[in-house]
Amino acid sequence: MAEYDFDLFVIGAGSGGVRAGRMAAAMGVRVGMAEDRYMGGTCVNVGCVPKKLFVYGSHFSEEFENAIGFGWNVGEASFDWPTLRDNKTKEIERLNGIYRNMLGNAGVNLIDGRARITGPHSVDVAGKEYTAERILIATGGWPYVPEFPGSEHVISSNEVFYLDEFPKKAIVVGGGYIAVEFAGIFAGLGAETSLIYRGDMFLRGFDQEVREFTAEEVAKKGVNLRFNNNIEKIEKLDDGSYIASLTDGSTLEADVIMYATGRVPNVMDLGLETISIEQQSNGAIVVNDDFQTAEPSVYAIGDVIDRVQLTPVALAEGMALVRNLYGGQNQKVDYDLIATAVFCQPNIGTVGLSEEKSRELYANVDVYKSTFRAMKHTISGSDEKTFMKMLVDRDTDKVLGVHMVGPDAGEIIQGIAVALKAGATKAVFDSTIGIHPTAAEEFVTMREPAS
Ligand code: FAD
Ligand code: NDP
Repeated sequence: MAEYDFDLFVIGAGSGGVRAGRMAAAMGVRVGMAEDRYMGGTCVNVGCVPKKLFVYGSHFSEEFENAIGFGWNVGEASFDWPTLRDNKTKEIERLNGIYRNMLGNAGVNLIDGRARITGPHSVDVAGKEYTAERILIATGGWPYVPEFPGSEHVISSNEVFYLDEFPKKAIVVGGGYIAVEFAGIFAGLGAETSLIYRGDMFLRGFDQEVREFTAEEVAKKGVNLRFNNNIEKIEKLDDGSYIASLTDGSTLEADVIMYATGRVPNVMDLGLETISIEQQSNGAIVVNDDFQTAEPSVYAIGDVIDRVQLTPVALAEGMALVRNLYGGQNQKVDYDLIATAVFCQPNIGTVGLSEEKSRELYANVDVYKSTFRAMKHTISGSDEKTFMKMLVDRDTDKVLGVHMVGPDAGEIIQGIAVALKAGATKAVFDSTIGIHPTAAEEFVTMREPAS
């Protein structure tokens, strides 16, 4: 008779928790899992999936315009927000069901409700205590919104997916992934959109030229970029709309003001004080290379440890943890060369070092780059441009970073990430025969360094 109710108790059925719990259960581990909000977590419900569906929706407006040059006349286009919102919600509900079944079929004992740790081996969910040999915290993150006069009027990425009405005028505040993606979504779906960012160029940490090029393209699509600016206060008007007063003294009207000013680890009321755990100043749980906290029976993965807030990273952490705990392996998650995409318009795809970081770390860096108008736009009339950039260590010929701003950049960079992971040199890129005619072939035909 086992001493504990479960071998592993997972708190949170999001990207990391589901993967870890399902894998462990498939290995015969007795898994309990608590989820208090939505099956599949942030990514499935208020993150990657509904966001990407909205991104698809937002591209149609420019596609209708592009189509004219190809002989199509689609008449006057109009957009119905409830159709997109509700079709998206139906798809999310379908995914919620799939996640629930998948966990059940794998043998995970799913418990609906908010979990609170009560000790190194015990968790309370809705008034019932469960014991476990090990506890895994996979509670993700939560939007952070600064407090200022009128901040009660703003929404975050949690609410944006369920708006009753689509705004005529929208403001997005922030300069990270979510702000840039949602500025594109609002603008593409027809809202007069402003993006307010406190610094002089959004997407801090990305390659500087990529940031500047993206800013130009995003502005071309009609987003009003207000850099070096912030909202001081928001007032609600009688008609239900808002007026935002900015630090530069100007004002902006909007029906929706969305804050995308980062996310904080979701550790509220988790009972962490009942165990010996270390946290960073933002609440992130500190773990070692094996995702073990200072309390030996308690582990943590995903956004709550605030290493890299991406779904595939949470999945990799969950898989490594389970293989090591129950599969006799000793895997470490390799955080190098994580490819990522920003689904703005056009997309950014990036893997490896920026030019700035490359120059910091390597003495001799060759920069290859190309800016061009995609073949499609020779006829569409769109003035959208594509930008590609590759950083190479001249001493070893190793490719250090590859960046793209252009349609499907995320799709293209995924393949290139495999090449970089395999240690590809520039010579390998050069000896690769391209696929013609594609934009991606440019990556194997960039011959002369620009600098
Ligand atoms: P989560 O997926 O957040 O799951 C945590 C789960 O724990 C939640 O379901 C929560 O309800 C539950 N929970 C929390 N506390 C408790 C408790 N006490 N008891 C019970 N349950 C609890 N990443 C990408 O890779 N690509 C993208 O395109 C992308 N787009 C995004 C867009 C948006 C708008 C946002 C907000 C995020 C996006 N992300 C994207 C990030 C991605 O969603 C996260 O990195 C990922 O979901 C983290 O997984 P996780 O398992 O750590 O946490
Ligand atoms: P980010 O941390 O990426 O960006 C937060 C932004 O808000 C930064 O520009 C930051 O400015 C700004 N900011 C922070 N505090 C304030 C403040 N008080 N006032 C004004 N501006 C402020 O967070 P996001 O919310 O955009 O996204 C969270 C994470 O989710 C991302 O980092 C990413 O890992 C993940 N994600 C991934 C996506 C993808 O893969 N496509 C899509 C969406 C999210 P500054 O730069 O000056 O600090």
